[in-house]
Amino acid sequence: MRIKLDRTLCDGFGTCALHAPEVFSLDDWGYASLTGDGNIAPEQEAGVRRALLDCPVHAIIELSERG
Ligand code: SF4
Repeated sequence: MRIKLDRTLCDGFGTCALHAPEVFSLDDWGYASLTGDGNIAPEQEAGVRRALLDCPVHAIIELSERG
């Protein structure tokens, strides 16, 4: 899967980094950024999907394979 993170929506709840700490890193204020380029390895998908569903402001968006 492939995701993007809209940092203008992120409100710094930090939920994503709890679910998938290897994919999301938090800055000093708790705002998230992607550690990689948005391509998610199969073994990371479960955590990322949980982060996607739990993000209160829906800042994490799954991109379709066809773009
Ligand atoms: S869960 Fe959403 S609002 Fe919270 S840090 Fe992650 S992207 Fe930002």
